[in-house]
Amino acid sequence: MKYILYALFIFLLVNASFAQRRSELNKRPKLVVGIVVDQMRYDYLTRFINKYGEGGFKRMISEGFNCKNNHFNYIPTYTGPGHASVFTGTTPKNHGVIANDWFDKVLNRSVNCVEDNTVDPLGTTSIDGKKSPVRMVATTFPDENRLFTQMRGKTIGISIKHRGAILPAGHTANGAYWFDYEHNGKGNWISSTFYMNKLPQWVQDFNSSDAAESYFKVWDTFYDINTYTESGSDENNYERVFKGKNQPIFPYDLNELKESNGNFKIIADSPYGNNLTTDFSLAAIDGEELGKDDITDILTISYSSTDKVGHDFGVNSKEIEDVYIRLDKDLERLFNVLDMKVGKGDYTVFLTADHGVVDVPHYLQSLKIPSGYIKYKEFKEKLNAFILEKFKATDLIKNISNDQIFLNRTKIRDKGLELSTVQQEIVNEIISYKEIYKAYTATALSNNSFPAGVEHLLQNGYNQKRSGDILTIPFPGYIFYRKTGTTHGSGFNYDTHVPLLFFGKGIKHGQTFQKTVITDIAPTMSALLGISFPNVSTGKPLEFVFD
Ligand SMILES: [Zn+2]
Repeated sequence: MKYILYALFIFLLVNASFAQRRSELNKRPKLVVGIVVDQMRYDYLTRFINKYGEGGFKRMISEGFNCKNNHFNYIPTYTGPGHASVFTGTTPKNHGVIANDWFDKVLNRSVNCVEDNTVDPLGTTSIDGKKSPVRMVATTFPDENRLFTQMRGKTIGISIKHRGAILPAGHTANGAYWFDYEHNGKGNWISSTFYMNKLPQWVQDFNSSDAAESYFKVWDTFYDINTYTESGSDENNYERVFKGKNQPIFPYDLNELKESNGNFKIIADSPYGNNLTTDFSLAAIDGEELGKDDITDILTISYSSTDKVGHDFGVNSKEIEDVYIRLDKDLERLFNVLDMKVGKGDYTVFLTADHGVVDVPHYLQSLKIPSGYIKYKEFKEKLNAFILEKFKATDLIKNISNDQIFLNRTKIRDKGLELSTVQQEIVNEIISYKEIYKAYTATALSNNSFPAGVEHLLQNGYNQKRSGDILTIPFPGYIFYRKTGTTHGSGFNYDTHVPLLFFGKGIKHGQTFQKTVITDIAPTMSALLGISFPNVSTGKPLEFVFD
């Protein structure tokens, strides 16, 4: 009897531990969907909340976890660095994507963050197909999932923008697809030979359908424009006017405007670019059978048209309100399909942005809020005049881009000048310019550690091999940009504060005002999946979001 009881006890114990392990394993969702909304400020979630339906943003909030104080933790807040940072869990200092385009000191020319001349385009003959993640030196959490699952868990990356598709999906993706709209592109979803030798049949089928062309139609507000009380008047001086139109007002007839506005580019520049991204994502879920088995697949979707409309019309426009109302419908459509095809509770979604954006400075000025514009040409001329006077030299500056100055180091050496002296003298000069808030030399950023403040953000974005010799920070509200529309890139709250929502398998319902940073997302997803952290990740898992 004693032995029977003992055996029973052992049996129960072993069984319990199996059950526990099984439940640990069961926490792995069949599919992870990582959504990036390009240029989405945190307040777009709260400002338009009464316009959202129950199945999109609100569903993520009511079923999932809302991190309300989530920020970018580096400068510059641009698209390429943003997508890389979300998925690698680290900053440009480590993953190497220091901007969308930057001056390459070795090649002595500007490079795009995803350009790769060693690969060939698929679905196009344009240079927009010669792209890969080769300049990003870190792994993404989808890469780690591929390694963990012996390459059995799939990764697919999708975005209108190449960098929005390529960087999240990482180096081991089965495919990354983007839209051929730049340089008068043909409106196909394209890829490169980095991933495959030819486009899969489902992509070819999608391209031969009239899915993209069907959006050459009128863009009017989704609801009656008079109910859009959360934004400014439709007619104002702060917005870009499409070629062929006299005013930046609804409705926009894309069919009429397409020819003078880059054909398929006008779809990317309207909310229909997001609709099309959802259409293509749903085709990918079917075509790749994502989330069909127990081995976790990862789908990354970046909605680019929010950024395009944001740049053209600004934070306070009717157009931006409409693009978010429509995006909310896209999310609902996506989640409904995931419920049906993967199963409610069997997938996990997170949603964030790649950066925020500032209100149109011209508009802020009208309200007496300090803001303004820096004219690149004037800035450069003033600086060159100073250099000529101080060092009796004409071409000590090789390039100015992304608020950074790259010096001609050979020339400096040949003239017998000390690099650190030239850097410091330039800092001393430009700090006197009225638009410049702070300036640091590369030497200062390499030799010191800034634990907090805007200097800390600058340091997190400073890459010793790739960044410039002098890094500048314009005053809050100041941008290098045209007078209509607006931009982003700073370390101020309007550019750093973005949504972070988790929902689905393994996620509990809740919210926090505790500060989280963008680099926490990838380690959180790694922890949820029980896989390795991306190789250079510097964030921490947000354990309070776990069920
Ligand atoms: Zn962006």
